[in-house]
Amino acid sequence: MGGNFECTQCGLCCLGIGEIVRMDKQLSQYGFIVKNEVVREMRQALITPEYRDLFDNDHSVQEQNTSACFFVRRKPDGKYVCTIHPYRLFICKDYHCCAARIYKNGIEAGRVKGRVSIVTKDEELQGIWRENVQKHPDPSRDHIESVLSGHGYSILFYDSE
Ligand code: SF4
Ligand code: SF4
Repeated sequence: MGGNFECTQCGLCCLGIGEIVRMDKQLSQYGFIVKNEVVREMRQALITPEYRDLFDNDHSVQEQNTSACFFVRRKPDGKYVCTIHPYRLFICKDYHCCAARIYKNGIEAGRVKGRVSIVTKDEELQGIWRENVQKHPDPSRDHIESVLSGHGYSILFYDSE
């Protein structure tokens, strides 16, 4: 099964990237230059009006994560938001944190990173994955899907990965 990657706004990708994605210059109260320090991409960015209060008044993300991006904030509902979303850099637009997500009973049970690495707290899934995917010489998507469905899991592969 394939699909488009959908970000759950867990914030992880923005919490450790502050050394690469940086605020280069402040142009006005809500106008900034954002810069990728590695490839030197630069853009003018404006803080999205609906996030300006949050941007001004809540710096807890940066206080708790010294490597967090200057522009990320945590909303009251716990989700993280890019306050310059329409202007974010290519590195941010292009980022997919996983190659596939695995579900059990409609709840996310794990994520696939790269080709056969898995991130999960589900010990049964860890075992199934180790024995049937990581030990397989060339596990195809069909093989993975069939193994997982035999144990009540489903998997959504992201096509652009
Ligand atoms: S891209 Fe992935 S790590 Fe980043 S916020 Fe979305 S779900 Fe989280
Ligand atoms: S610019 Fe936005 S998407 Fe990119 S790292 Fe910062 S908060 Fe995240």
